Amino acid sequence: MLGKLVGWDDTIAAIATPQGTGAIGVIRVSGTKAIEVVDTLFPSKSLTEQPSHTLHVGLLKDGSLVLDEVVVALFIAPRSFTGENVVEISCHGSHYIQSQVMETLAARGVRMAKPGEFTQRAFLNGKMDLVQAEAVADIIASNTEASKRTALLNMRGGFSSVLKELREELIKFSALIELELDFSQEDVEFADRTALFDLLNRVSVQVSKLLQSFRLGNVIKNGVQVAIIGKPNAGKSTLLNALLNEERAIVSDIAGTTRDTIEEILNINGVLFRLIDTAGIREHTSDIIESIGVERSLAKMKEADVVVYLFDVSATSISELEQEKKNLEEAGIKYILAGNKADKVIDLLPYTDSGALFISAKEKSGVEEVKQKLFDLTVSGDLNGDNVIVTNARHIDALQKIEQSLYDIRNGLQEGLPGDLVALDIRECLHYLGNITGEVSVDDRLDFIFSKFCIGK
Ligand code: GDP
Repeated sequence: MLGKLVGWDDTIAAIATPQGTGAIGVIRVSGTKAIEVVDTLFPSKSLTEQPSHTLHVGLLKDGSLVLDEVVVALFIAPRSFTGENVVEISCHGSHYIQSQVMETLAARGVRMAKPGEFTQRAFLNGKMDLVQAEAVADIIASNTEASKRTALLNMRGGFSSVLKELREELIKFSALIELELDFSQEDVEFADRTALFDLLNRVSVQVSKLLQSFRLGNVIKNGVQVAIIGKPNAGKSTLLNALLNEERAIVSDIAGTTRDTIEEILNINGVLFRLIDTAGIREHTSDIIESIGVERSLAKMKEADVVVYLFDVSATSISELEQEKKNLEEAGIKYILAGNKADKVIDLLPYTDSGALFISAKEKSGVEEVKQKLFDLTVSGDLNGDNVIVTNARHIDALQKIEQSLYDIRNGLQEGLPGDLVALDIRECLHYLGNITGEVSVDDRLDFIFSKFCIGK
């Protein structure tokens, strides 16, 4: 683990709650002198004599000036988020009060924290590894149950522990191969090649599992892009409204009505589905022919992760439907076929082979099935289990490099490359594995990673 860096022993502070007026505002202070400094502002008792993990109510005073009545929470090093002495001052939510407290702290030598600096210190003090630290940012940014759960799992070390184990096993092999090099004259083999292949395979399986999980991770973090496509009057607006559960429907009776929606969002089982180009759906001008094959529809479909192709069962022939399906398949588009206005048609039998769902957008029947199918089609994989899911682009980059180096090692072994070259490839693989969890030197990237946090985290 990385040791404490020189210059990191100053005490920092930041307002940890969002800007704007809330009921309370929390100021976080961390560093060797955190408790000492706050103690000078807290006359009612001596904070330096209080045990860790305790709360204290009292006036915060700068000399005779009362700053606020506050609650002070004490966390004595190393039992704190950052691993340093930490004081959290909960004051009233006024921006004025919080600024005044910050100024008073600054006058006592406390420095304003940089973005992510608290979490960075937690990492540097060995309180968490890099994946966990990055997960803190994801937790703060999470906006659905699924994204929160994934981030929490990563923060608790789910993803890192898998990689750490594999890395340790690989280190053993690398040591054995390097030992062989010392005995190169004697033609000995300490590292069991079969066992090494076996390990390489296990690492490969894990790595490709993690790489695959990224697609799901991305879905959880950024949502699924959905486009509703179909001919005019198929019922797209009606379906959109039914999906969004909006009663204030804007359908074709009001000609040319557009609603300036940038994006409509659906939450299905904790995953966000972003309905794209909803303004387009709501345009009802006759010059927009939204049939498959029309350029605009195609572009829209390409942009989407999944397309809901809606057709009017009362006005679509079987052969027409088969043609539309063929078009979708040829374009390599993931789609759901939904036959709308099922309330109007008595005989649906001819359409049953098409694999379509039959719905009535107007009567809101079958809409839940559309939602469920959207979910099943795009969020395959077990969201509820403790599956490790990679959501971070930096990790994916490293995983791809690991995959390449695994290939190189295996190739090298098969071709009987000299041990020193194999050892080099193994080192490279170890380097990338360690990069993810922060076990190898990553100093340059640290500032970059933590700068993406906001101040106070
Ligand atoms: P869009 O052009 O594809 O957006 O179609 P709209 O949603 O504007 O619907 C066109 C017409 O079909 C409207 O008059 C709707 O009321 C009607 N409509 C939509 N869904 C259904 C349905 O499930 N059943 C019936 N009977 N009519 C529907």
